Amino acid sequence: MKYYDEESYRFHKNDVADKCFCCGQTAPRLLILRHIESNMLVHLCPECMVDNSSDYLLDNTRPWLGGRGTCK
Ligand SMILES: [Zn+2]
Repeated sequence: MKYYDEESYRFHKNDVADKCFCCGQTAPRLLILRHIESNMLVHLCPECMVDNSSDYLLDNTRPWLGGRGTCK
């Protein structure tokens, strides 16, 4: 399927690609999650993802880039 629903893949207007949406820090590795409240995608650092896991969903339509225990 080539069609892809752009509406579902919009990033939050306050999201910055190389910063964590939650804490605003630049992190070596950011994860793309869905902000449940706005239903938009945001970048989060691993710490915020863990701390705020009830507010964000892992967007499983994208590959999971995390490597357990790897620190880059
Ligand atoms: Zn963060």
